[in-house]
Amino acid sequence: MKLKSEPFLSPLLKKAEDKKGGSGYDDAMASPKTVTIERIFLDRTAKTSPLTRRILKDLPRVPVTIVADKKAFLRDIGKTSLSAGKKSLWITRFKGNFLKPCPATGTDYLCCGYWVLNAQTHCPLDCTYCILQNYLNVPLITVYVNTGNISREIDTLIEDQPKRLFRMGTGELTDSLAFDPVTHFNERLIRHALKKKMILEIKTKTGLVDHLPDIRKSNILISWSLNPQDFIKTQEFKSAPLEARLKAASRAVQKGYRLGFHFDPLLLLPGWEKKYSELLEQLTSKIPESEVMWISLGSLRFPPALKKMITERFPSSAITAAEFVKGLDGKMRYFRPERVRLYRHVYAEIRKKWKDVFIYFCMENRTVWEEVMGFSPEKSDHLDYLFHANLEKRFPDLKLPTAKQTSYFQT
Ligand code: SF4
Repeated sequence: MKLKSEPFLSPLLKKAEDKKGGSGYDDAMASPKTVTIERIFLDRTAKTSPLTRRILKDLPRVPVTIVADKKAFLRDIGKTSLSAGKKSLWITRFKGNFLKPCPATGTDYLCCGYWVLNAQTHCPLDCTYCILQNYLNVPLITVYVNTGNISREIDTLIEDQPKRLFRMGTGELTDSLAFDPVTHFNERLIRHALKKKMILEIKTKTGLVDHLPDIRKSNILISWSLNPQDFIKTQEFKSAPLEARLKAASRAVQKGYRLGFHFDPLLLLPGWEKKYSELLEQLTSKIPESEVMWISLGSLRFPPALKKMITERFPSSAITAAEFVKGLDGKMRYFRPERVRLYRHVYAEIRKKWKDVFIYFCMENRTVWEEVMGFSPEKSDHLDYLFHANLEKRFPDLKLPTAKQTSYFQT
């Protein structure tokens, strides 16, 4: 039966709405009206899954369409606009592994050897630069319900190479937490990861940490992608403001999580030097370095086709107005001297106060590493090893296996 179409706010967000008299933003929840679901498409084969039941229970007033012919549905739904897709939920099953190596691009840029757990794709937030706009074939928020084997996938990987330290995370093809108060997908992973020699990262631009379980401090980190508030306001729509992300990070520490921060994408927008300095001052004065497992730096990069989409969807965004060069992986990047200038500034600001935290570049070449940090990993496997060595030294409570280069170097 089709019910009256009514926008849905997840229970946590709804509570925030009520508290603020419907103004749409609340510090405790730290998110604006992020998740608005107006319709659900349910794959017939996913109907009886416990996760499906939970989602439908949580979204009782959202109309549901049962999809019998998945192939035809996917063919037609591809024409849905991205904006409409962000308000639609597609509940289905996935054939294949959920755990995969991070899809690094090209061999000229150093990759850190990260693994991604993709049980959900697409994202209710709306960042101007989001690469998913150009990457996913299905423009709907997609939740896969058949994730029962994920723990086994993780165990198999770790058992196969017990001397390596695997870092993995849920925030590659979505924001890890934007829809998590409904699916509670991360909780099961957290409980499993706590028993394993691995690092689990939950990556977000929301402040939605309160539904996560309290844990003993160990190998789980919640990480935030950060930008100055002015850039958040103009480029990261529906995400939590900077202040709210930092408050959520403090709450996450109280709940037993370690932290990570990603300055990615760094943006060369007017006033960037001062704005990044202020942001770093705010971060390093509010958060203790000892809680932070790692920080990444990456500058804006995008496939050429994304430029047109950004211009059409976000005509007032200035991010594509800069000068770009096509990298060896086919993506557009700022020119190298500009990237180095940007990185040097942010790197120096972090190091003013935080001397030990592990800082790495996401997909940069060795020349940039050398020019900014004064050294470079020899190759991607070496960078993977450096993570392990740093975490072993800084977090002895994790009792990690001893980091050895021979466990990482394939050739
Ligand atoms: S939070 Fe990440 S996945 Fe979501 S829209 Fe922004 S860049 Fe894309």
